[in-house]
Amino acid sequence: MSACEDASSDEGNYDYTYKEMLGRFYRIHLKNYRNDFIKVQFLHIVAAVLLLIPPLIMREIIDEAIPNQNFGRLGMLVGAALVIFIARALVRKHTIYHGHRIAQESVRDMRNDLYQHYQRLSMNFHDRKKTGELMSRIIDDLNKLQEFVHHGPEAVINSLVLIGGTVLIMLYMSVSLTLVTLIFVPALYIFSRLLIQRMHEAFRETREAKADISDRLEDNLAGIKVIKAFVSEREELERFQETTQEHTDKRLNAIKYISLLFPGSRLLNSMGVLIVLGFGGYLTALGTITVGTIVSFYAYLQQFRAPILRMVHMTEDLSRFFASMERYYKHMERTPEIESESVGVPKPPSFEGRVEFEDVNFCYEEEEQVLKGVSFAADPRQTIALVGPSGAGKTTIVRLMPRLYGLDSGSIRIDGSDIRGFSVRELRSAFAMVMQDDYLFSDSVAENIAYGKPGADEDEIIEAARAANAHNFIVNDLPEGYDTQVGQRGLRLSGGQRQRVSIARAFLKNPQILILDEATSSVDLETEKLIQEAIERLTEHRTTFVIAHRLATIVDADEILFVEDGRIKERGSHKELVARGGDYYRFYEMQFEEGSEKTASL
Ligand code: ADP
Ligand code: MG
Repeated sequence: MSACEDASSDEGNYDYTYKEMLGRFYRIHLKNYRNDFIKVQFLHIVAAVLLLIPPLIMREIIDEAIPNQNFGRLGMLVGAALVIFIARALVRKHTIYHGHRIAQESVRDMRNDLYQHYQRLSMNFHDRKKTGELMSRIIDDLNKLQEFVHHGPEAVINSLVLIGGTVLIMLYMSVSLTLVTLIFVPALYIFSRLLIQRMHEAFRETREAKADISDRLEDNLAGIKVIKAFVSEREELERFQETTQEHTDKRLNAIKYISLLFPGSRLLNSMGVLIVLGFGGYLTALGTITVGTIVSFYAYLQQFRAPILRMVHMTEDLSRFFASMERYYKHMERTPEIESESVGVPKPPSFEGRVEFEDVNFCYEEEEQVLKGVSFAADPRQTIALVGPSGAGKTTIVRLMPRLYGLDSGSIRIDGSDIRGFSVRELRSAFAMVMQDDYLFSDSVAENIAYGKPGADEDEIIEAARAANAHNFIVNDLPEGYDTQVGQRGLRLSGGQRQRVSIARAFLKNPQILILDEATSSVDLETEKLIQEAIERLTEHRTTFVIAHRLATIVDADEILFVEDGRIKERGSHKELVARGGDYYRFYEMQFEEGSEKTASL
């Protein structure tokens, strides 16, 4: 079915080159910090040059000042060294602080951008992505980037200047000793490259295993009630242990390579030191080079180790850094399909609330068409009931109106205009939805209600709560009234209380179009009555779509749409449909006539 073709494409498979990613980072996220960034890089060069001078001073002291007992010169050289040490300390203070600041601030911007991007991506994206994965993009990957934005350039510039300068000075002092001493460098390079490549793979696997742990934790802690109820603690523990074992194995594998890399590279470097002592000692004994030269060679080689190791360390991290950066850009790459379609025509003064569906087709995933040619119309202030077996597509129909998902073909119009013509913000301002298990934020009751209208004052909140039949339980049953914290996902409230808080939230929003999806499905009769009253008040002046099991709601509706298998099978008032004796009638008999308490409410 062509309607479903591009229903769910994941982020692009295009592989970025390092150059492209760095270019993007420099152009976009470093834009505001470029001058400071360049200044810090320049100071990295200064800091490296300042490190190159003291061994030369040392050589001068040993070869000139000491043998000639030239105390004036000795004092001057020591004084010069002191000035250099102080200057370097000041330069380093600047580069450490401002280098980190630039990294912190530019990555803060990236983090905010990514969060905003996630908000704009469609529900289709969020249905498919695990929360843990998105969190690790925003937290772990960006931490990695931040560390690198400072230490990456620092390592490259500092190391190149230091290594290049050291080699030049060494060559100037003694060509033969330099050539022999630096024999270990190619060996060090090849050795680290081999290990780094394996490490790259191992770290990638470690991160995947870590994401599995967060996913499992998140899932299990959210579903802890089910786990306890089914006494499946032991099975879940075993499954959790498998994921932590997997993570441990992968991480130890990565650490195995680290444990080879660092001591191995140090050992190779020590070879250079041995050559200075052996071959340098030999040349000194022959009188080819001075004692000062061999001592400064030794000092340079000690300084040589750090930048090479830093380079090695950086190269090892480079792959992690670019992997994080690539994931960042791949997620940023996804176009928020719904927003991008909105051309944003001016908003009508206020919505009347006429809703029309015309031949709407929709699928969540490829090749599984959920809605098949749905057409209907609702006039302003009508109440339309959607009835039908579960999985029929009722929830899907109401989700399409505020464009939580984009439809594949056909059109939906509000007050005669295609919903794609409105900006999402305008469109959604017309709606309020009360769903079966609505999400409450881990905030106070008052803040949760106020979510319906940012900036609402206390009186408005209380008025909405009264209308939702929530005021009484809030004041009488909750320990701190409106200031009571509802806990994560509102779990410190009962199902019926949560429902009424979310109805109050909808009241406060005062929308032209109201959607109630099984808003009374899981509560006791008394609470249901309270909720029903609240809903009747809420539906009075607006177009309402109600998906309900409760007969009273259905019977009073202006029109019933009987939905089955993604199609509207029958439509009409309750009386008409019962008189027709078709699918709706059979469904209604099964649902309500078999002696259920709900018959009483007819
Ligand atoms: P109803 O509300 O009538 O019970 P729904 O509209 O929720 O039915 O679901 C219709 C069909 O769409 C079902 O087959 C369901 O499995 C599928 N479906 C619902 N939500 C999603 C989703 N987010 N991703 C993929 N498939 C979904
Ligand atoms: Mg449903």
